[in-house]
Amino acid sequence: MRYSALSVFLNGLRGNKAWGPAWRAPEPKPAYDVVIVGGGGHGLATAYYLAKEFGVRNVAVLEKSYIGSGNVGRNTTIIRANYLLPGNNPFYQLSMTLWGGLEQDFNFNAMVSQRGIVNLYHSDAQRDAYARRGNAMRLHGVDAKLLDRTAVREMLPFLNFDDARFPIMGGLVHRAGGTVRHDAVAWGYARGADSHGVDIIQGCEVTGIRRGASGAVEGVETTRGFIACGKLALAAAGNSGRVAEMAGLRLPIESHVLQAFVSEGLKPYVDTVVTFGAGHFYFSQSDKGGLVFGGDIDGYNSYAQRGNLALVEHVAEAGVALVPGLSRVRILRSWGGIMDMSMDGSPIIDRVEDNLFLNAGWCYGGFKATPASGFCFAHLIARGVPQETATAFRLDRFARGYVLDEKGVGAQANLH
Ligand code: FAD
Repeated sequence: MRYSALSVFLNGLRGNKAWGPAWRAPEPKPAYDVVIVGGGGHGLATAYYLAKEFGVRNVAVLEKSYIGSGNVGRNTTIIRANYLLPGNNPFYQLSMTLWGGLEQDFNFNAMVSQRGIVNLYHSDAQRDAYARRGNAMRLHGVDAKLLDRTAVREMLPFLNFDDARFPIMGGLVHRAGGTVRHDAVAWGYARGADSHGVDIIQGCEVTGIRRGASGAVEGVETTRGFIACGKLALAAAGNSGRVAEMAGLRLPIESHVLQAFVSEGLKPYVDTVVTFGAGHFYFSQSDKGGLVFGGDIDGYNSYAQRGNLALVEHVAEAGVALVPGLSRVRILRSWGGIMDMSMDGSPIIDRVEDNLFLNAGWCYGGFKATPASGFCFAHLIARGVPQETATAFRLDRFARGYVLDEKGVGAQANLH
């Protein structure tokens, strides 16, 4: 449904009683052409593109909790395409293109804000590495500019430029990067998928995968009964190892917690995303005024959606080293999400059996990939062959030794 400004105003006067739910709450049907496990950004985007772009509408998304309860509603909202390797770069560039038109496409305000991202460098070696990354980006048609210390100081005068250990020497700017309101992305895709006939079933945990006499997948056992499917697509992010295990797959993935923080609201302070190149810290400012920031993953494997205090201290230390003014700011809240860390830092989008499809291994960087991941996964499920920008994300690359090693793009290099 479309709402005009006047109808929104009048509805407000009537106590907002006329708003309908944005998507239905259907009972699960006994069978679907495609069942998607996981109602995060990737599962919902996959369902949306399957229905809208590929005409596959008899689809269910099964979510064990509620839409947005996973990482899609827990991340620090950064989008970017500042990748080095040819296997990664065009895919993230496709995602940026889709972000650019997303709000018009699904008619929902996701607050897409291409405010830029600056990766700071603190040594000659780091500058050279960023120069190389910037060159690779430009070769793929992605904007990138290497700034010196003076130019960065003009942009971000409040940073600690003369820190004795990590003086700021400059930064790599990627202007198309920025932020997007994360939970609105989940809601927009959910609403869009629902409007094309997809059943979004919340409170429905997949507990097993049933195979027939031939060994082929027949459907899933869930807390709401057995659901048969022609094709099964796994998009369970932080739980991808556990869900894949139900299909007998052992993934090259470990689950870790990543924490994030938001401060009290401040007046406009920083109009871009900034990453510290010498410590685990990055930050931006939300439209409500809070500084949103984070650092590295907690150092142990876990399926808990909360982290520990040692990392809180670590992030605070790095933050104050980069932005001394941060020591005067009060923290409003912090939270954690579960990362499925692949061994080379790159994701998996693959057809692992005739009718079994896997989307996993997004590490700290899967939010920015949401539109391209959904589109490419839908393409693979509908057509049986990978979309051209997602040919490198195969599961067997680990066994073959053709890894797509870009793990530094996460918190280690603080690019998030
Ligand atoms: P999720 O939202 O986690 O979706 C998976 C869903 O599967 C969950 O809702 C879960 O409940 C469901 N599920 C699991 N098991 C089952 C089951 N058995 N049955 C049914 N449902 C099941 N990425 C960026 O690009 N930029 C960032 O700035 C960024 N910052 C981050 C900061 C933090 C603190 C965190 C936690 C993550 C960050 N990420 C970032 C990473 C990004 O959020 C994830 O890579 C991405 O959201 C994962 O995909 P998803 O949205 O589908 O995951």
